[in-house]
Amino acid sequence: MWNTSTHAEYLHDHEDYGFEGAKADFNWQLIKRKRDAYVSRLNQIYRNNLDKAKIESIHGYARFTDDPEPTVEVNGKKYTAPHILIATGGHPSTVSENDVPGASLGITSDGFFELESCPKRSVIVGAGYIAVEMAGILSTLGSKTSIIIRQGGVLRNFDCVLLGKVRSVQKTDKGLSVTLVTKDPDDKDVQEKYDTIHEVDCLLWAIGREPNTAGLNLSSIGVKLDEREHIVVDEFQNTTRAGVYAVGDVCGRALLTPVAIAAGRKLAHRLFEGKADSKIDYNNIPTVVFSHPPIGTVGLTEDEAIKTWGKDNVKVYTTSFTPMYYAITTRKSQCIMKLVCAGKNEKVVGLHMQGFGCDEMLQGFAVAVNMGATKEDFDRTIAIHPTSSEELVTLR
Ligand SMILES: Cc1cc2nc3c(=O)[nH]c(=O)nc-3n(C[C@H](O)[C@H](O)[C@H](O)COP(=O)(O)OP(=O)(O)OC[C@H]3O[C@@H](n4cnc5c(N)ncnc54)[C@H](O)[C@@H]3O)c2cc1C
Repeated sequence: MWNTSTHAEYLHDHEDYGFEGAKADFNWQLIKRKRDAYVSRLNQIYRNNLDKAKIESIHGYARFTDDPEPTVEVNGKKYTAPHILIATGGHPSTVSENDVPGASLGITSDGFFELESCPKRSVIVGAGYIAVEMAGILSTLGSKTSIIIRQGGVLRNFDCVLLGKVRSVQKTDKGLSVTLVTKDPDDKDVQEKYDTIHEVDCLLWAIGREPNTAGLNLSSIGVKLDEREHIVVDEFQNTTRAGVYAVGDVCGRALLTPVAIAAGRKLAHRLFEGKADSKIDYNNIPTVVFSHPPIGTVGLTEDEAIKTWGKDNVKVYTTSFTPMYYAITTRKSQCIMKLVCAGKNEKVVGLHMQGFGCDEMLQGFAVAVNMGATKEDFDRTIAIHPTSSEELVTLR
């Protein structure tokens, strides 16, 4: 969907690039059909891979039983094994009708993928990356979109250099929360403390995610949960019950697909290949927010670096420029970059950027940061001209 909305964005530049009179009718149903078919294809590929690996798939809702040995019951049948892994993920948080009458008239990110057309008017409630991404997609594709934020701004945990830009690009209504949603007869009206947004086609709650632990009967086997109901694991993904492990969103740390996959792989290497030290390193996990333009970030924010290293030991380098893509376009979008360096040798401990191409740019730089690269290592690397990424190796 982000790729689709990126096309919508670039359409504005077609004439500037000489493509005069390009036709631009957008067919939401076509892209939905193709997207859903792609996901089904992927699902089938994964099913085939499991079959090829001779892994039996049992379809049903699993829960632990009260048996003395950890045992899982699915469709009335019990299963046990020396090693049991919980990877049940999470689900979007919702608001109860008691707290906000009419709340159930809204959808969540799951419902977003079921939309059959582009809503004319959308209200997104939330401040995290899902809210920012969905708001960006909807507004770029033509939906009149507002974000409602209870406190602070969007993406509060990101480096301060990014926040100013995200907030200036996305008009947000902060300090507000929805108090009432009404429907009459087709459209919704969304009321917050001071105002009512009329004729809303899509109200999307993006207010966080909760782990899928409620129905698992984990207390019966002594698997401890934290105060937010995530499974408590040690650095090796062991739960508090021997022989039972957990990975992914259900553990509540770095909710990203490659993190869940890496944790699973590392655990398998430890349990079945005798690699006793095999565990995931949660430092320097690169993350992209698919906003418009995209954000790429790895390592410590400036504030975190100062907390860890002390103000006198932290040096930051920032730049802001117009990527060459926009040299001949009427529409302009700035790119910002920041290196957070620490210690005498200026080790790069954080890298934060937002702009054209930053999504694809980040992975390679994340390798460098992970390897402990210093500012000097960056400077020694010859620039690739004329790209945006060259700015990161020519910072002064
Ligand atoms: C809108 C959105 C956008 C995202 N974008 C990105 C992105 O761009 N990049 C990225 O890396 N990550 C992204 N994520 C996060 C990513 O989807 C998750 O981190 C990842 O899916 C976690 O994997 P998991 O295996 O822990 O859980 P899941 O992928 O949620 O899988 C858990 C599975 O367990 C099943 N299950 C649950 N309970 C039971 C039970 N009792 N019995 C049987 N089965 C059960 C569920 O039905 C589900 O199939 C996004 C998430 C959302 C919601």
